[in-house]
Amino acid sequence: MSSAVGGVSQAVGGASPAVVEFDAVCKTYPGGVAAVRDVSLRIGRGELVAVVGPSGSGKSSMLNLMGSLDRPSSGRVLVDGHDVAKLSDRGVSALRATRIGFVFQQFHLAVGVPVLDAVADGLLYTGVPMRRRRARAAAALARVGLSHRVHHLPQQLSGGERQRVAVARAVVGEPSVLLADEPTGNLDSASGAAVLNLLRELHAAGTTVLIITHDREIAAELPRRIEMRDGRVVADTTRSTTIGAPR
Ligand code: ADP
Ligand code: MG
Repeated sequence: MSSAVGGVSQAVGGASPAVVEFDAVCKTYPGGVAAVRDVSLRIGRGELVAVVGPSGSGKSSMLNLMGSLDRPSSGRVLVDGHDVAKLSDRGVSALRATRIGFVFQQFHLAVGVPVLDAVADGLLYTGVPMRRRRARAAAALARVGLSHRVHHLPQQLSGGERQRVAVARAVVGEPSVLLADEPTGNLDSASGAAVLNLLRELHAAGTTVLIITHDREIAAELPRRIEMRDGRVVADTTRSTTIGAPR
């Protein structure tokens, strides 16, 4: 069994089933760029992980593989124990819809779609009946503090609010893992801090969260830090916590 102590999962050592597992994963793009080179790792349920590294080091490529937006050139990617390469296109779509939440730097919200509908769209292909989707979306928007914005359009919102909408859309289906690719990269520091706090709250409530960030301060605060360079993981450190530990 895994349990969270002081917000830090004890699953790192391998006791709980992995949400994401990489086994010797490589990704080489058609042009020949080796973006991910021989990466093996596991993300346990309930972890909160920072992914850091210079621009071009393969962070986004790795996250896209974790989220089954892309397939590895070699090696195995397992999400909740499912080998992504062995799934049909439909199977991959279903996996993505039900188990993975994505948040991007650029929000990715369609201009003319009201907030409530944008979040409800996060439940497309999940099997949640249409009539339940809007209620679930409203609940997710309440969770991110945007109940007063449900009928707004994205262009009527601040950047920080847009990103909170994107987070609501990512978590409305209660995914196994929330993958965030530089979610604060387009925000001023106050809005960025609010989004980061939100991600930490979601983690505290049980969601497994990975955050790509350039911000060393953010990375230093999170329980686990994976550092990439030239497509490889060059460091993977878990901060020890003394909270709740016997003295
Ligand atoms: P990061 O997110 O750390 O900045 P990326 O994963 O975006 O790194 O990129 C890693 C390397 O792969 C870079 O050299 C980049 O130019 C290349 N790359 C990323 N996406 C593609 C793509 N779709 N096609 C070809 N090369 C790509
Ligand atoms: Mg990137």
